[in-house]
Amino acid sequence: DAAPLVLSVERLRKTYGDTAAVEDVSFAVRRHELVGLLGPNGAGKTTTINMVLGVLEPSAGSIAIDGIDLARDRARALARTNFAAVYAPLPGNLTVLQNLRFFGRIYAVDALESRIERLLERFRIAQFRHTKCGLLSSGEQTRVSLAKALLNDPTLLLLDEPTASLDPATAQDLREAIRAIARETNGGILWTSHNMYEVEEVCDRVLFLSHGRILLEGDPRELPAQHGAASLEELFI
Ligand code: ATP
Repeated sequence: DAAPLVLSVERLRKTYGDTAAVEDVSFAVRRHELVGLLGPNGAGKTTTINMVLGVLEPSAGSIAIDGIDLARDRARALARTNFAAVYAPLPGNLTVLQNLRFFGRIYAVDALESRIERLLERFRIAQFRHTKCGLLSSGEQTRVSLAKALLNDPTLLLLDEPTASLDPATAQDLREAIRAIARETNGGILWTSHNMYEVEEVCDRVLFLSHGRILLEGDPRELPAQHGAASLEELFI
């Protein structure tokens, strides 16, 4: 447990008028760790992720990425972050290569062309380099999104339902790629999912969010027995 914290969230809160989307959320992600953020629709997962991405301003609380306070040193903190999400597809009229070059320039990536080549190989999308992203299948687009998300070698990688809408074999393939990323890079990963099977298989730790609060936290393979349930599904539904 001595690995450094890549994300530290303390007493995070987001309110809209009288309603709190995120009530009082504290957790951390360590280097090489793959943490699952679970919870029913409306629990506050996307709101939490959007605050970590700097898209939403917290009503209270603090966020530190790689030890850098997001509110105090926003540009430096966000430079160490990246994300892939099903709701944020890449521009469909640009080819895979054009997309990766476009984002690579935004992130000011060093030796961009060789980095792109490695990522194309790694995610087995080199054959699509001149294909417009809009023409790729969901699984292929997700692999391009992951390549884009790794362009700046992020310390913190946020994945919002990366395997949603994928067939079982493609989802399995992607889970293995994501596990490998957690092991090989210097970062940690926070991902949201509704799939208990994959969470159990892949995550080192899970956070279960409900009504803007963390209700349970722990190893997904141990949590059910600790709470007298037969499975994660039984525990969370
Ligand atoms: P899902 O699994 O459906 O994506 P989620 O856990 O990501 O759900 P959030 O999108 O974070 O949930 O929403 C948390 C709560 O905050 C919901 O009740 C939602 O209606 C509310 N909410 C989110 N954004 C706003 C907003 N801009 N104004 C008012 N309420 C909002």
